Order: sequence, then C-alpha cells, then structure tokens
Amino acid sequence: MSVNVEIEGEIAIVTIGNPPVNAVNRAVRERLLALAQELDDNPDVRAVILTGAGTLFVAGADIAEFDRPAEPPFLPDVIARIERAVKPWIAAIRGAAFGGGLELALGCRFRVATESARFALPEINLGIIPGAGGTQRLPRVIGVADAIHIVAENQTPGGAEALKLGLVDALVEEPLLPAAIAFARNALEHALPSPSLDRPVSVPSPDVWAEAEDRIAARAKGAAAPARALQALRHGIEHGAEAGLALERSIFLELRATEEAAALRHLFFAERAALRPAEIRGINPRPIETVAVVGGGTMGSGIAAALLNAGLSVVLIEQDEAGVSRARSTLAGIFDSSRRRGQITDDQASERMARLETSIGYGAAARCDLVIEAVFEDLAVKRSVFAELGRVCRPDAVLATNTSYIDPRLIAEGLPGPERFLGLHFFSPAQVMKLLEIIPTPETAPDVLATGFDLARRLGKIPVRSGICDGFIGNRILRRFRAEAEALVCGGVAIAAVDAAMRGFGFAMGPFEMQDMAGLDIAFLYREAARSRGEDVPEIPGDLLVRAGRKGQKTGGGWYDYAAGDRRPQPSAAAERIIVPLVSARNDVAEEAIVARLMAAMAQEGQLILDEGIAASAADIDLVEVHGYGFPRRRGGPMFQAGRASADKT
Ligand code: NAD
Repeated sequence: MSVNVEIEGEIAIVTIGNPPVNAVNRAVRERLLALAQELDDNPDVRAVILTGAGTLFVAGADIAEFDRPAEPPFLPDVIARIERAVKPWIAAIRGAAFGGGLELALGCRFRVATESARFALPEINLGIIPGAGGTQRLPRVIGVADAIHIVAENQTPGGAEALKLGLVDALVEEPLLPAAIAFARNALEHALPSPSLDRPVSVPSPDVWAEAEDRIAARAKGAAAPARALQALRHGIEHGAEAGLALERSIFLELRATEEAAALRHLFFAERAALRPAEIRGINPRPIETVAVVGGGTMGSGIAAALLNAGLSVVLIEQDEAGVSRARSTLAGIFDSSRRRGQITDDQASERMARLETSIGYGAAARCDLVIEAVFEDLAVKRSVFAELGRVCRPDAVLATNTSYIDPRLIAEGLPGPERFLGLHFFSPAQVMKLLEIIPTPETAPDVLATGFDLARRLGKIPVRSGICDGFIGNRILRRFRAEAEALVCGGVAIAAVDAAMRGFGFAMGPFEMQDMAGLDIAFLYREAARSRGEDVPEIPGDLLVRAGRKGQKTGGGWYDYAAGDRRPQPSAAAERIIVPLVSARNDVAEEAIVARLMAAMAQEGQLILDEGIAASAADIDLVEVHGYGFPRRRGGPMFQAGRASADKT
C-alpha cells in the first residue's frame, strides 16, 4: 500500500510511501480521497497529519502519467476534499515538497517543516503550470509578490525561508512526527485558521504585474509556461479563486498536450537515465579527491574551475611560469565573476583558490587520483604528456584526455595500465556547460568508466557515453549541421536568412554567427590537413573566407562584418563577393524549410551514430545537443524533433 495510516490517540498519521520520490499517482490520489472521508467519519480522530515516507515529503505528481489522458480522481478534487475535511489536516514536511507535493501541503490547514524542507513549483520546467491549485492557494497563503517568484520564476525556499514567508506555520526539529503531533494537539486547543483558498489576499498594484511580466519574458527564452503560470495566478486574484482554479486547470491541460511539454518531459527522463546507465550499475567508482589538470588554457582552466566548484582539490600543471600565471589569473577571474554575480561569497572564492595548486613539473601528479589532460590538440604533444604521467602516477590513478577529435586509442598507445585510461570530453566554458562526453577505449576498465560517470554527477554535469569516431557524438553532428548550412548558402539562401531561421527556432545564435564567434580557422586547418593527406575534401565557402583572411570576429569579419569593439554581425557584401564562385543565384527559402533541412541533417547523422553503436540511445544524442551545443531545450533535441516529424507524416 502506497499510503499508510496509523492512529496515535486522537491523531491520524497518513504517510505517502511511493519510492523513490513519493510521487502522487492515481493509486495515491484514490487512497487520499477515501481517507479524507474515512477519517472525517471516525469519531476517535480529531486531526490528521500528512507526511512522506523516508527523507522527503512528495516530489510531485507522477510524470509518467502525463503521456496519458488524466484519470480520476483528479488531484485538484483530492486537495479540495482534504481542504474541506472536518478534521484539520496538517502537512509534516522534511525534504522536497515539490509540485503536486507542495499543492497537497497547501490544501492542508497547517504546515510544519524541518530545516531540510524544500518547497518548489517546478512545473514550468516541464512546460506546464501547477494544475492542482498551486497558483491560487500559494498567493493566498504568502502574498502575491512572493508567490510569483515560486510559481513562475523557479524560486525554491528552504525550511527557514518558508517560515519567514508564512508558507509554514512552524519550523520543528527532527524527529518530525512527535513534533508534528505536539503541534497538532496544541492547534486543536485554538480556533482553526481558514482554509488556504478562503484566505483574503491583497490585490497588488499594476506595477507588480508589469514588473513580473518583464522579468519572466526576459528569462523565458521563448518558453510559454512561465507567462501562463503568471496569467493563472493573476486571474484568480482579479476574478476570485474559483475562476482562477478553472483557468489554472484549463491551462494545465492545454500545455500538457503541447510539443514543448512533451520535449521537456523527454529530456527530464533522459537526464535521469543518463546518470545511471545500465552498464555501470552496481560497479563502484574509484574514490577521487585530488585531480591533476594538465594544460591550463581555455579548457584546462575551465575544467579546474568546475572541479574546484565541486569541492575537489586541483593541481594544475603547465609548461612554464607564464602558463601557470595565465591559468591562475583565468581562474581568479572566473571565481571573481561568480562572486560579483552573487553566486559565491568572498570566502568561498578564496577557499576555492586555496584548493588550487599550480606546478610546472609532473611530480605533484604522483598523489592525484585522477589526471585530466587538456594540452594542445596534437597527438605527439599528448603522447609525451601521457608518457610522463605513466611514469609518475600511481598505477590505480585514472588518466583522461579531453581531446576533441584525436582517437583516444592512439593517445593511450604504450601507456602502462591502459585499463585506467578514458576520454572525458568537456565543453567550453567547462565550468558552465553541462555536457560531459565519456569515451571509453576497448581497454577501459568498468570501474574507470563508472568513475567518469560519478565525476560527472559530482560536477553537476550530464554524462553521455560516446563510442570512438571522428568528433565523437557532438562535434560529428556539428560538422554535418554546418555542412548543411553551407549547402543552403551554396544553393542561394542568404547567410543571414539561415541564421535568422535557427534563432527563430530557439538557438541563441545561427550557425554562421556561431562560426564567426568561435573562429573559422580551426575547421579550415582540419580540412586542409585532410586534403594534404590526399583525402577528397571539396572546397566550401568557409575555405574561401579563411583564405581571404576572414576568420571571424577576431579578424573583424568572417561570414559577417563587425565594427571595431562591436560583436553585432552586419551583413557583408565583401563576404558574399568572396564566396560567389561557389554560390548559385539567390533562392529564397521559407524559414520552416531552412529549419527542416538542418534538423533532418542532424537527425540523419544522429541515426548513423546510433546505427554504428556510437551513442547508446536517441535520447543521449538529444542530451548532447541540448547540453553541449545550445539546442533549445523546449524543442527536445534533433532526434525528438525527427520523431515528431515522422509522427506528423503518418
Ligand atoms: P589552449 O591552447 O587554450 O590550451 C592548451 C594549454 O596547454 C596551453 O595553456 C599550453 O601552455 C598548455 N600545454 C601545452 N603543452 C603542455 C605540456 N606538455 N604540459 C603542460 N601544459 C601544456 O587549448 P584548449 O582550447 O584549452 O584545448 C585543450 C584541449 O581541449 C585540446 O585537446 C582541445 O581539442 C580540447 N577541447 C577544446 C575545446 C574548446 O572549445 N576550446 C572544447 C573541448 C575540447
């Protein structure tokens, strides 16, 4: 039974136990509804405590049910019944009270919580809004301005903050249940407060709504749900709770059926699965506390920052004094900017720098549990680094390369103990980007692979296992995506039209703006190297631009022109003239057709990657694109898009 009842004197204790997160599913709803009646009818019971089994209250509704039509009894009706129960219900909360869990708690007459409690209405992250009264009861309990932050802006107060907000009536110590029972006995001595929904609420000035709308629009990135959550909340304040509940429910059901919500659910499940792939289940990772990072350039510094942020100790190894001091100042800059943004305190910034040691020789690597190499992308340089590491590191230390393209098997050739080697491919900026591609070689030991996944979890990253191929999963799809974008331009589509279409789809930048920012020269040199090996690599517009000295923003122009000190791209007649030999007559293609071409190219490459066994699942490919390449989250990823496109055709 997922809902358990015990009677302690005149108090009934109802415990929701539906591991792992006590999700409210149909069985839980049915039982709660029946219990509200049963306990009202029980003359021995005077109050009801509602709590969750284990370390949390209820982390939400059962998302797996969202892909089916809603089944009665509906959560709003269950909560309404609890709220109107003759015997008052008291929520006793430790850990997460999220989504439907918080809505249930709001339906209770009182809430008591421990410090560990955490309150959230995260529905907007799944493309929906709270659907069981959250947008209506919360403002009536804590006031409109604070409710907006939680309903539409993802604020997640803890126990102490919730007490200040008036969201909980008492903050108690563990053990929770005896404290809740004492609270209940005391409450029964006094007149009961009104049910949440009946409480008076003051209507805010129009400025409050306007400011909230602006804040929400600025952060939404095209997502619909946050503004709709605000709309439901406001409607209830302006037209009464009943009208608010009706609108909330209809928006909830409408959004639940959208592509955006399906995409966000798809990613939610993909992310959860990514952290615990079947192949490492039950395998213990190696303990990692001190990590050496070899190379302190763009990637090495970012990787070191990510490790320091996660509480690990770092030894950063560079080739000379200049390299060391450059890396130190990059890291100081990274923590300083987190400090200025209020993400960490002064003390935390200094403490992180104190966990950083820099070194020119490899000696310090001898006491490291893990080494991540991030030197130049050059096989000979990387091999010489691993030759040193093979000599100095402990035989059980895990050794990793951050290479973007070089076959890790070649890098590990001759390494003593190749079973401890793997690729850990971070993305720039490494302290920010969530993706970590994990690339085992055929010799990588299972516990070394498990160590890679465990490290990702500790760094707050999304790990995706990739097989070995040129560019692994992400850069291989990126190359195909760029090639298709250039093919569109060769076919007469304007450069700016391609970029505008992809921005319209939800990318922060189009493919050409992105290349201008990153520089066109690295990909060019890569193609030139292939040509010099005798491979047949046809000339593309990007080659002509680089040969003409247009390498992107850093040279004042690439696909676009840039005024000095200005990163805004301006259409470039010069660029168009240079690429003319490879471009057909102007051919205007509709935005949707441009998007469809580029999506199809990504999905085709993704399918090849799947067929070759490079990625374990289509969902993994979507995670790579969303967390490493700026693919708009609300679109679910290229494989999700391909699934929708083929479903539309059938
Ligand atoms: P970078 O040129 O910014 O940094 C390389 C650093 O390595 C330099 O500071 C250099 O002094 C140092 N170095 C070179 N040889 C060394 C040695 N023998 N010992 C110690 N330090 C040495 O390069 P980067 O962009 O940080 O790239 C590093 C690696 O990460 C490459 O393999 C690259 O392909 C990969 N990578 C780069 C990106 C990116 O976006 N830049 C993304 C993912 C992976």
